[in-house]
Amino acid sequence: MKKRAIHWFRSDLRLSDNTALHALEKDLHETAECVAVYVLSDPDEGKWASGAASKWWLYHSLTSLQEDLKELNVPLVILSGVASEVLSRFAQSIKADSLYYNCRYEPWASKQEQAVEKELEKIGVECASFHDGLLIEPANLLNKTGGPYKVFTPFWNACLAHFDRHGIALPKRKFGKSIKGIKFDTIDYSNKSFKQDLDDLHMIPRIKWYEGMQEFWQPGEEGARKRLLHFVNKSITKYDTGRDRPGDSDVSYISPHLHFGEISARQIWHRALEHDCKSARTYLREIGWRDFAHYLLHFFPETPDEPLQKTFESFPWRTDNGSLEKWQQGMTGYPIVDAGMRQLWHLGWMHNRVRMIVASFLAKDLLLPWQRGAEWFWDTLVDADLANNTLGWQWTAGCGADAAPFFRIFNPVLQGEKFDPDGEYVKTWVPELAKLDKKWIHKPFDTPPLELQMAGVVLGENYPKPIVDHSAARQRALQALKSTK
Ligand SMILES: Cc1cc2nc3c(=O)[nH]c(=O)nc-3n(C[C@H](O)[C@H](O)[C@H](O)COP(=O)(O)OP(=O)(O)OC[C@H]3O[C@@H](n4cnc5c(N)ncnc54)[C@H](O)[C@@H]3O)c2cc1C
Repeated sequence: MKKRAIHWFRSDLRLSDNTALHALEKDLHETAECVAVYVLSDPDEGKWASGAASKWWLYHSLTSLQEDLKELNVPLVILSGVASEVLSRFAQSIKADSLYYNCRYEPWASKQEQAVEKELEKIGVECASFHDGLLIEPANLLNKTGGPYKVFTPFWNACLAHFDRHGIALPKRKFGKSIKGIKFDTIDYSNKSFKQDLDDLHMIPRIKWYEGMQEFWQPGEEGARKRLLHFVNKSITKYDTGRDRPGDSDVSYISPHLHFGEISARQIWHRALEHDCKSARTYLREIGWRDFAHYLLHFFPETPDEPLQKTFESFPWRTDNGSLEKWQQGMTGYPIVDAGMRQLWHLGWMHNRVRMIVASFLAKDLLLPWQRGAEWFWDTLVDADLANNTLGWQWTAGCGADAAPFFRIFNPVLQGEKFDPDGEYVKTWVPELAKLDKKWIHKPFDTPPLELQMAGVVLGENYPKPIVDHSAARQRALQALKSTK
């Protein structure tokens, strides 16, 4: 009979509808005890350890989880280091006999899971792993030839057929009704040095560039619940048409909560289906893109660094740190691009339509490697997610699965005029252009001098001139594409 169990929290920072946590609760005898652990395992994650904005989020999410667990008398112990080493030492020191966890899908994570299981087996601790984070387990879905799907629509149709047959489990109630925690002071930390206070891990930067994020977001399970509720009550029926308008707020803003597992895809699925309308199904299709991204990462683990389409390996990308910096700072002279990059810096988040525009600008107008853009996103997004970020960048750069062809090059002026017709988005994030008439707001470089003067815009002084000419850049990109064929 099990006596002392550990739940290893990873990207499942919630107490409701958490597959491994509920299994632990079910397996434990009434008198048995449980302790929760989070391992900040930068060495395992290597290059893909959380970036600065994600660490900010993680700190607050763990603080919130610690509070929720405290109410159940379950301590959340924070460890840091190589997961297999610290978990094994910790399990020994509290004489645990089992460890429960939910799987992750990043390439480093499966290696980490194997190493943890191997080490814990050596000391007689039983490990139980579960699939939890996605609607469908990647290995369970193959095409007719037995290979992985590479195009979204057939993938999604196969998923829908699978859900029709097997259903999607109803979300489970909050964990903890019958659980007994281990009192903090009864834990014998025979080697205290490996237990950490969250504050010792320096996850919050000394310079307070995160104030905009702090105002906008509420990391943690409660924040996720509120976000979803607000979206389904106010916007889900408008999502179909509103999702492409970055100036409105008809999207769900659920991505960081989903990435950290503060809410499950199942909870979203069932809540959205309460609105049985076309718009809700469009929304669920986007949740399907998230599954597709993780599916691709599972079958093509090299894609965070390498293009899925091998012809792009010889693509003649440029090196130009000056242009890269101007793109990062939102100083390209193209208002919709600059608005997006500044929204990213301020909120740690950017609207999906604008992510596509700024990514296209980097890869095609500036001809810089998509990996440089993906790295910047990795550091600055609160929802930085290896699967979604890789898919988004490879899709836009034309080198991924089911990607937009490279020769389809977004014109940043036309994109701005189409998706931000009144210029509201640009006015919010590029205030120096706020007085420009909507006719000119997406092309200050073509604006008559008198209009510029009346709006207080001096190009090259309080707003930059374009760093490239779009038409010439487009030709250069098409030439580069030809050279790879
Ligand atoms: C270049 C680029 C990089 C991106 N990087 C990331 C990233 O690091 N992390 C991330 O979560 N998303 C990423 N995306 C996908 C998408 O932009 C965000 O998921 C979305 O903008 C988040 O806002 P939301 O929650 O309001 O989305 P909603 O429109 O409300 O969609 C709901 C959820 O569906 C999923 N979703 C929506 N669109 C996509 C998509 N295209 N691909 C995969 N999942 C999707 C997300 O989980 C999202 O939270 C990227 C897209 C691009 C083009």
